Amino acid sequence: MSHPVIPIVANPAALEGDGAGCHAGRDQMASAARAAGKSDTLDRYAADYPAGPHDQPQSMCPAFGSLRVGLRMRRTATILSGSACCVYGLTFTSHFYGARRSVGYVPFNSESLVTGKLFEDIRDAVHKEADPARYDAIVVINLCVPTASGVPLQILPKSINGVRVIGIDVPGFGVPTHAEAKDVLAAAMLKYARSEIAAGPVAAPRAGISHKPTVTLLGEMFPADPMTIGGMLDLMGLAAGPVVPTREWRELYAALDCAAVAAIHPFYTASLREFEAAGRRAVGSAPVGHDGTEAWLQSIGDACNVGQAMIDSAKNRWLPAIKNVLAMSPIRGRITLSGYEGSELLVARLLVESGADLRYVGTACPQTPSSDADREWLQSKGVHVQYRASLEQDLAAVEEFQPDLAIGTTPVVQAAKQKSIPSLYFTNLISARPLMGAAGAGSLATVINAAIANRPRMEAMKAFFDNVGDGDRAGVWEQTPVLRPEFRENTRRRLEKAAKKRKAEEMI
Ligand code: SF4
Repeated sequence: MSHPVIPIVANPAALEGDGAGCHAGRDQMASAARAAGKSDTLDRYAADYPAGPHDQPQSMCPAFGSLRVGLRMRRTATILSGSACCVYGLTFTSHFYGARRSVGYVPFNSESLVTGKLFEDIRDAVHKEADPARYDAIVVINLCVPTASGVPLQILPKSINGVRVIGIDVPGFGVPTHAEAKDVLAAAMLKYARSEIAAGPVAAPRAGISHKPTVTLLGEMFPADPMTIGGMLDLMGLAAGPVVPTREWRELYAALDCAAVAAIHPFYTASLREFEAAGRRAVGSAPVGHDGTEAWLQSIGDACNVGQAMIDSAKNRWLPAIKNVLAMSPIRGRITLSGYEGSELLVARLLVESGADLRYVGTACPQTPSSDADREWLQSKGVHVQYRASLEQDLAAVEEFQPDLAIGTTPVVQAAKQKSIPSLYFTNLISARPLMGAAGAGSLATVINAAIANRPRMEAMKAFFDNVGDGDRAGVWEQTPVLRPEFRENTRRRLEKAAKKRKAEEMI
């Protein structure tokens, strides 16, 4: 298929960061993107996803969040535009997490990037994929280099043969975490769906329209949690609406058609803006533990204009059950907790209510109004809450509090294991469990108590491996490697010199 050629001002400076990718050249990439016309997008991201107090959390490539949201939706094609190494990593990770779906890729080279041919290749690919028998939507994601060079996805056709086309920029130098990248795509889809609703009738949800006012749930959660929440809402004459990010396009309409939106995960700033534009009220936190559930039922009831008698009857029905389960499944031990999923503060509340001596919770996500209630509650219990936590802060917490269990990201778990402190991965082992209501109240104790009880095994393992060396000398050697710090010093000096030379050349 041929299309009129659109002249595109591509910025070749974007290529200078290629290869260095997320490990260097961040400022250079950002200024290249600005020079190529992406200032509005970067300014919006900077406002929605504030980076401080330090530069950027050290988690996986942010674009994975958008990719995952696209891959989890029925009848949706997801296409990446970026450097091959980034696409390889993202594809690998998506299949590691069970995508069972092809990831589309439009490759480029320096010539197709700077001449604007890449945009035309993307447009051709989108036209080729736009089969309404297979797809409701096609998502195209600009990674770092195409964003920095200004590839203008916003001028892709909005729809082809009835298939919606959504183009988004998700550069690592603009979107700090993969959590917030989920928000970028979810918000773009909600915005699109809102415009469709404004234009005329839209498809009903597959399961039919709810006869009760619904509460949309913002944030991916354990599959049983929406059912648990639905059960709690029922006594207030409400029902659980779709979970956003949705699994199907038509759920977006039902999500927008809610009585209120529950920001279960607190980082969906752009999506909340779409709900606000649709006139929907947002409620933060979630029904976790006794206190969390009590406060959440009250806030949701108030937001949906439910009478106090009905709110009280829901509380009377659910709160004693939660208290009971918490009492039956106590957690004993000192814990530090860190993660990048957005549910860290909710899990922290549950741990505290289960009796754990929780000292620190670090989240890669930023502070937003949606987590205020959780932060205040945790701080009132003496827990240190760290937003935009760096790996160094997470490790310092383990060092300072010497916990019986460190829950955290891969490098935190690894560091804790080296100290023979029992540890659990937050993403795989903790956040993938029910957290809400009575089901959530008892779900953490078994795995956490078992891990804490593992300490003697950790110590035995440490003793066993004690003489295999560490750092550069780790392993089994015929001759123990001799460290050559002078080589490192040499390389460091050479790199510094090269950087100074580059800077001087830039100033000429
Ligand atoms: S797209 Fe992701 S992996 Fe590639 S350079 Fe950007 S942040 Fe790094």
